[in-house]
Amino acid sequence: MGYDRARFLGDVDEDLICPICCGVLEEPVQAPNCEHAFCNTCVSQGSSWQQTCPVDGSVVTVPHLRPIPRIMRNMLSKLQITCDNAVAGCNAILRLDNLMAHLLNCEHSPKCPVACKHGCGLEMSNGELPNHNCIEHLHSMVQQQETHITELEKTSAEQKFQLEEQQRDIQLLKAYVHALHNDKHHWPMSLTTPPPIAYN
Ligand SMILES: [Zn+2]
Ligand SMILES: [Zn+2]
Ligand SMILES: [Zn+2]
Ligand SMILES: [Zn+2]
Repeated sequence: MGYDRARFLGDVDEDLICPICCGVLEEPVQAPNCEHAFCNTCVSQGSSWQQTCPVDGSVVTVPHLRPIPRIMRNMLSKLQITCDNAVAGCNAILRLDNLMAHLLNCEHSPKCPVACKHGCGLEMSNGELPNHNCIEHLHSMVQQQETHITELEKTSAEQKFQLEEQQRDIQLLKAYVHALHNDKHHWPMSLTTPPPIAYN
């Protein structure tokens, strides 16, 4: 599908117009017989490997299409075109061969990241900005944080419970060790020292 003619400054040579879509050639290819040029997508669309040239009715075989001559490529690349994002406020006018590079960096592009200037500071793409609502965004953020807090509280309660259990275990162990320690003074004596024999 070619470029809309209305986007170009000045007249565009008829040879640079696709006879199928009537736009300015995009990724053009040339029919070897009649030498008419078409957008690659216009002539290759559909399942048919064969098309009829709308200008002269000659058969165009898709596998036989070839690149357009260099002079045509040069004429095309020098055309002056407005940016795709002109409706979004971009005033840039570019050579056709610079359009792609510009679109990647165009600050009016729907994909270009921007921050909300109404207070919430959310980063989003240009295209999302018109539908953005600060209150909705902040509300969902508060909900997310509340969920997070609830999870943290649950974990904290579990850890507190575990800690109390461990403290109880330690107390028990201490008492046990203490009991053993006290016992030591009694049982080794009774085991190692034979009972005194009384000789009368
Ligand atoms: Zn076309
Ligand atoms: Zn033709
Ligand atoms: Zn632009
Ligand atoms: Zn906002």
